Amino acid sequence: MNLRYSESEERFRGELRGWLDKVLPTVGPPPASDDWPGRRAYDTAWQRMLYEAGYAGINWPKELGGRGASPTEHLVFLEETERAHAPYVGVNFVGLLHAGPTLIAEASPEQRSRYLPPILRGDEVWCQGFSEPGAGSDLAALRTRAVRDGDHYVVSGQKIWTSHAEVADFCELLVRTDPHAPKHRGISWLVLPMDSPGVEVRPLRTIYGTAEFSEVFLDEVRVPVANRVGVENDGWRVAMVTFSFERGTAFVSELLQSMELLESLVGIARSTRDGAQPWDDLGVRRELGHLAADLDALWSLTKRNVTQASRTGVPGVGGSVFKLHYSEVRHRLGDLALRILDRAGLSFDDLGGARSGEQVKGWVHALSISIAAGTSQIQRNILGERVLGLPRER
Ligand SMILES: Cc1cc2nc3c(=O)[nH]c(=O)nc-3n(C[C@H](O)[C@H](O)[C@H](O)COP(=O)(O)OP(=O)(O)OC[C@H]3O[C@@H](n4cnc5c(N)ncnc54)[C@H](O)[C@@H]3O)c2cc1C
Repeated sequence: MNLRYSESEERFRGELRGWLDKVLPTVGPPPASDDWPGRRAYDTAWQRMLYEAGYAGINWPKELGGRGASPTEHLVFLEETERAHAPYVGVNFVGLLHAGPTLIAEASPEQRSRYLPPILRGDEVWCQGFSEPGAGSDLAALRTRAVRDGDHYVVSGQKIWTSHAEVADFCELLVRTDPHAPKHRGISWLVLPMDSPGVEVRPLRTIYGTAEFSEVFLDEVRVPVANRVGVENDGWRVAMVTFSFERGTAFVSELLQSMELLESLVGIARSTRDGAQPWDDLGVRRELGHLAADLDALWSLTKRNVTQASRTGVPGVGGSVFKLHYSEVRHRLGDLALRILDRAGLSFDDLGGARSGEQVKGWVHALSISIAAGTSQIQRNILGERVLGLPRER
C-alpha cells in the first residue's frame, strides 16, 4: 500500500469535505445519551444522509450497494468525518461494522440482498447476541439451544450485554444446534428478527448512566432455517469472521477521537490551574508524548489492517493486536485526562474548551473497551496461540 495519498484520493477528500461542510450545519446536536429511540432516529437519519450522498458502506463492494472505495479512500473517509465531528456510527455499529461485513463474507446471495440494503439506508438496526451468563470469554460454552422443527429452528435461552437490543430490528445470534458435538463444532450463526414472538428485551442500566445494553430472553422463538448464515454447526468459524471485523476495524473512529482528545489535553495542560500549569510536570509531558507515539503507531496499524481486510476480505488476527493495544492506550489516556484536569475532572464545567465531565465519562467508557469484543486477556491468548505459536490453552 502506498502510504501517501494520491491526487485522486485528495480529490475524494476535497469532495467529501465540501459535502460535510454543507450538510453538517443541518444535522443538529444528538439527543440525550439515555434517549435510545431518539438516538436511533438521529443515527439512522445520518446514515440515510450518507446513503443518499453515496457515502454509505464506504468500503463495501459496489455490487452490494456500497461505494467500493479503496482502502486509502476508506481511511480518508474516517479522517474527514472525524475532523468534521460528523455523527458517530452510533446504534448502526453492529450492522455496519460487523454483522454487515460478515454477511458480505459469508451469507448467500438471497440473504445479502435481503439484509444489506436496509443496513446501508439506515432503515434497519442490528445487535449482537453472542454473550450469555456463563459464556463470555469462553463463548463456545454458550447454551442457547436451537432445535430443528421442519423449516424452522426453535430457539430458547438467554443472552446478555446485548448492546442496542432495545432499538434493534435484527440480531446476529449464536445458538447451539448440536449439543452432542465438541463445543466449538455444534454452534450456528442465525439472523433473529427482534420482533419475533418469544423475544423479551430487559434493559440493564450501567455505571455509565444509560441502558446501553440489555438482557435478551428467548422462549421458543421460531427462526426460519433460511436465516442461518453458513452451514449448520459451522457457526463458530462464522463468529470468528465477525470478531475479526469487530476487533480489526470497528474501533477506528474511536481511535481518531482519542487523537483529538490528546490534542485537547495538551491545550488544557498548558492552561493555568491554581497558579501552576500541569504542563510544568515532566511526568505529564512525558506521558503525553508516549501516548502521541502510541496513537500514531495504532493509526499505522489501522492502515495495515484496513489494507489486509480489503485484500483478503477479513482483517485477520491484526484485529486482536489493535484491540489489545488500543484499550490499554485508552485507559492511560483516561488516567492522564483525570490527572491533568484534577478536581475539574469531577465537574461538568467546561475547562479550556474541553468538557471536563466528558473526560470522566470517557475514563469510565475506557474501562469497558478492554472487555467488549473479548477481554485483553483473551486477546493475549489469541496472539499467544495464533501469532506466536505457543501451546494452545486447555
Ligand atoms: C461495552 C460492552 C458492550 C458489549 N456488547 C455486547 C454485545 O452487543 N453483544 C454481546 O454478545 N456481548 C457484548 N458484550 C459482552 C462482552 O463480549 C463480554 O463481556 C466479554 O466477552 C467478557 O465476557 P464476560 O463478561 O462473561 O467475562 P468472563 O469471561 O467471566 O471473564 C472475567 C475475567 O476472566 C478473564 N478470563 C476469562 N477466561 C480467561 C482465559 N481463558 N484466560 C485468561 N483470562 C480469562 C477475562 O479476561 C476477565 O478478566 C459487551 C461488553 C461490554 C463491556
